[in-house]
Amino acid sequence: MLESGRVVTTTRRSAHVLINQSEIPVRVAISNQVQGVCVGDIVELSSDDNSAISKTDLTQTSILRSIYPRKNCLFRSYGNRRKNVCANVDLALIITAPGILGNTIFIDRILCACALEQIPAVLIINKSDVDDPEDLIQIYQTLNMLLIVSSAHTGAGMDQIRSLLHVPTLSTVVLCGISGVGKSSIVNNLMPDVGRRIQAVSRKTGQGQQTTTQAEGFLLSRGSSNPLLVVDTPGVQNFGLSHLSEEECRHGFTDIMSLSSQCEYRDCKHIEEEHCGVLEAISTGVFPVSRYESYLNILQELEQAKKYKYSTNGKR
Ligand code: GDP
Ligand code: ZN
Repeated sequence: MLESGRVVTTTRRSAHVLINQSEIPVRVAISNQVQGVCVGDIVELSSDDNSAISKTDLTQTSILRSIYPRKNCLFRSYGNRRKNVCANVDLALIITAPGILGNTIFIDRILCACALEQIPAVLIINKSDVDDPEDLIQIYQTLNMLLIVSSAHTGAGMDQIRSLLHVPTLSTVVLCGISGVGKSSIVNNLMPDVGRRIQAVSRKTGQGQQTTTQAEGFLLSRGSSNPLLVVDTPGVQNFGLSHLSEEECRHGFTDIMSLSSQCEYRDCKHIEEEHCGVLEAISTGVFPVSRYESYLNILQELEQAKKYKYSTNGKR
């Protein structure tokens, strides 16, 4: 018998899946035919012995047979290697902090990946009690996105984040940010109840499992409505985008795209062309230099990825 479920954590050949609205995931083996399962995936399961999967019968083993088509997938890539972060994302919360932790290259890379996958994003500028968030506000207020200034320590902005997470149409929210910006502190502030952390159980033993996950899901109960899957991603320092084409990179910068209507050449790369709307907007201070630096930074990575492809002749 087949059943479907939502993946909340993964290890190499197994996943933890929520079945039938249950808030306790079960551990299932991933079929050898299935590649690249990630948190947020809706998957098809079947029991090993072809009998019905029962939530309460922990002695059965289930197999993850296939992944249903995704509405989107946030993923990183390095050379030819793709790393899925989270699938079927309804909202990305990008967490940053003013001062030295305000890594705009990281923020812009995630914004680019989100734009290309049509994932709405909100920027949370945390640690506002430590440093002035104004510089980051100046940069990102030009993008059509919600900005929240917060402090996990004083509680500023926490209600705003909480009410965002209670929007009933959201099922999966992903948190991204470099380590140190206060991601865990925000999660703890929003979900102080340790029971919310997803504890997977084995169908065989009924006991909790140690997971070596890349991204970790938490469930936020929301009264009568469905619980929200909040996915915390590992605090990577770089978000590789080497899979993009130059054109995709441009499309990932929505502000560059709208300025490009003022470029003389339709295929303008906004690097050294004359009468370039982007370069003009930078010179008049309308377009933030840091956004442009992020754009160049990704193009540079794409150049290197091309060289890598040639040097390995397209092989891994
Ligand atoms: P993560 O690596 O992003 O998960 O960051 P953590 O939540 O572990 O926080 C890193 C450090 O910053 C810890 O010492 C936290 O106590 C501290 N921290 C987190 N949020 C805030 C904040 O809003 N204000 C201040 N002053 N410190 C914070
Ligand atoms: Zn241009």
